[in-house]
Parts: sequence; C-alpha cells; structure tokens
Amino acid sequence: MNPFRTDIPVEEAWDILLNLPLARRTERVPLDGALGRVLCEDILSPEMVPPFDRSPFDGYALRGADTASASREHPVTLSITEEIPAGSAPTLPVDPGQAAKILTGAPMPAGADATVKYEITEFTDSTVTFFEPVKPGSNVVPAGEDIRTGDLVAAAGTAITPPVLGLLASLGISSVPVFARPRAALISTGSELLPVEAPLAPGKIRNSSRYTLGAYLQQAGVLLCGAETVPDDTASIAAAIGKAFETVDVVLTTGGISVGDYDLVQKAAEALGAQILFWKLQMKPGAALMAATLDGKLLLSLSGNPASAALALHLIALPCLRRYAGLSRVLPETISVTTLAPFKKPSPNRRFVRGRLVVEDGKACFAQTGDQGNGVLSSLIGCDLLGEIPAGSPPLPAGSILTAYRI
Ligand code: AMP
Ligand code: MG
Repeated sequence: MNPFRTDIPVEEAWDILLNLPLARRTERVPLDGALGRVLCEDILSPEMVPPFDRSPFDGYALRGADTASASREHPVTLSITEEIPAGSAPTLPVDPGQAAKILTGAPMPAGADATVKYEITEFTDSTVTFFEPVKPGSNVVPAGEDIRTGDLVAAAGTAITPPVLGLLASLGISSVPVFARPRAALISTGSELLPVEAPLAPGKIRNSSRYTLGAYLQQAGVLLCGAETVPDDTASIAAAIGKAFETVDVVLTTGGISVGDYDLVQKAAEALGAQILFWKLQMKPGAALMAATLDGKLLLSLSGNPASAALALHLIALPCLRRYAGLSRVLPETISVTTLAPFKKPSPNRRFVRGRLVVEDGKACFAQTGDQGNGVLSSLIGCDLLGEIPAGSPPLPAGSILTAYRI
C-alpha cells in the first residue's frame, strides 16, 4: 500500500487537488450554445459598439454654434437638409444654417455636433426653430460608448453570461473558443441501494445521492457520463471505476469509504493501481473522503450519507471540476455572517452547517435550514451557505459571527 496523507484540513486537500497536472480540451461553440461555457481565450473587441456616433432620440441634428443666440424672444430657424431614419446613412452634410431630421439610433450627419428632441422645437417640413442655445456635443451617443476597439470584453477563465453573449453578437463574433465541459461519472456503491422505480424491500433504501449529486454536477456544467450503482463488492466496484475512467476525467463514488468491513472502495482503487493522495478530512460532515489518481485522472470517493456526500461535493469535488472546466475562480466565496439561532452542540471538529443567507437590518445573517444530521437531505433545500464552526468551539449563541461558504 502506498503511503498517503490522512486527516488533512480542507485547505490542504484544495492545495493537493488543485495543483494536479491536468489536460484540458478546447472547442469552438456557436453563440446559441455558449451560455455558461468557459472562455479559453480573452475576447478583445475588434470594433466600436456602437460603431458610429448616433442620436439618442427623435429630433434634429445641428451645429450647436448656430443656436448660440437662440431665445424665446429671438428664436433661430434652420433649414432641413434631409430625414435620417434608423438603419440609413446620412447623404448630406449639415452646413451652417442647416439641420437634419434624425430618428433614434440613426448616425449623426457630417458637420452636426448636437441633437435636440423634436418636442422642444417648432418645425415644418423644411425648417426647424430653436428657442434656446444647444451646447455643441450635447445629446450625441459617441461611437464606442459601450465597448471601444481593443477593450477586454470577457476574460479567459470566466463563464459566458447573457450580457457577454449580447456583446459578442454586437461585435459580430458568432462563435467562441471555450474549454470542453469536464466529463464525470458517478458510481453509487452500497448493497442496500435500490433504483428509484423499485418498491422498498427489507433493509433496502432508494439511491438518492445519484440524483442529488448528479443534479449539482449538472448545475455546475459537468457532463455526467454514467451513473452506475454497484453492490459492496470489491471486484464490482473496481470494474465500475475502471470502466468509467475509459470515458471521463473525474470519477466520483459514494459510500463504502469509511473503516467498516464493507467499506471497500479504497481496496477497489488499490486493486486498480490507483495512487491514493489522501483519505479523510478534518471536517464534519463529509470527513470520509478519499482522493486518488489513476493514469492522470481523478477519483474522488465520498461518504454514502446523503448530506455528507453533498457537502463534500460542494467543498471538494466542485472546485476540482471547476478547474477542469477552465474557470479561474474555483473555490467557494466566503462571507462573514451573524447567526440568527444558537448552535447548541459543542463542535470538537471543524463543522459546516447548512443554512441560507438572510439579510436583516442590512446585515448578512445565517439561518439554519434544518437538522444537521449526516443523512438529512431536507436541510439542503434552500441551503446557499455552509456556515463554518471552528474545531473546539463550545455551543454558539445566536448572534455569533461565522465565516460562511457560498454554495
Ligand atoms: P456508507 O458511507 O456506505 O457507510 O453509507 C452511509 C449511509 O449512507 C448508510 O446509511 C447508507 O445506506 C447511506 N447511503 C449510501 N449511499 C447512499 C445513496 N446513494 N443514497 C442514499 N443513501 C445512501
Ligand atoms: Mg455502505
């Protein structure tokens, strides 16, 4: 058996896992399929958005200087050169003494340096009258108001969001270079596990984690390429892991990773020749976690308890998968929160408590979402924070300050 680290802090697990060498594939995808995908190159703007100086409203384009003396008593009247609707280009310059009728979004004609809303003018088909001076430069949307040539539109390592898609479209960029989605398989181990369709039988339970973890992975943009369930049998577990590694980058297993007679995942990994990196973390729930590599691919074996497995997924597996996905920010963000209720048990170990962010009197507060047992999945409903209680803490009164990890 190869020597490996055991009982390590979460931070050391991150350090080990996030520094593993990894090969990532890239591809080009059309805008319609690009939402949420991770850019593998910086996108620099090849042009201005908008591409030309334009009018922000329906009115008249003119030379501001022509109206310097305009007033109620001494209005200034200019002659109209042409009408410029949106989508057309001006054909005539605006010379001194002239104005052009212009509509929202239409390009400014040469010579004009300001626009005025038609509501504050008087006009006929051939003339327009102004009753106050118009400052040169006023009410013109300059080319490049939104994006200038050479600007960084979106950075490599960030996920494509709706406004990024819109900006890429404005720039005529119809496909983008992205990292290939990471591929993972989820193997549920446990002779007690039944598929969702099966009626209950003595001693059996249905496999819930296949759905919980599968869905969290899906939300994280991971391609789930296989979700097998295998009994507590070393050969079956090894066969399933070996087969999954033929097609995926990361294999996740649940169950059978503690120290009982039927905890066989570690044996299965060793039988396959996997290199174990560490086993067991200093955290509750989710301490029973093994990480191993096999031919440069990653095996993460999580506890079977549904809540333990979900927490380990959020704190350990998802950061790894975000790294495979090409994201530059992979660790959960932390915020400081004030607890709304006491946590009544002492915490000899570092504990992560399921809760949600509540804003009270403008302060970020932490509301527990329910019971904190390792098998309690219901308290993950609505959970968006994992509140951290440091090892060796006494029971905590309401109003305690915690660091919380956003999930
Ligand atoms: P283990 O980690 O194998 O010792 O399992 C711990 C607990 O989690 C046991 O009560 C198992 O029955 C339960 N369990 C294991 N895997 C699953 C699963 N996929 N879905 C629901 N419960 C599970
Ligand atoms: Mg088991």
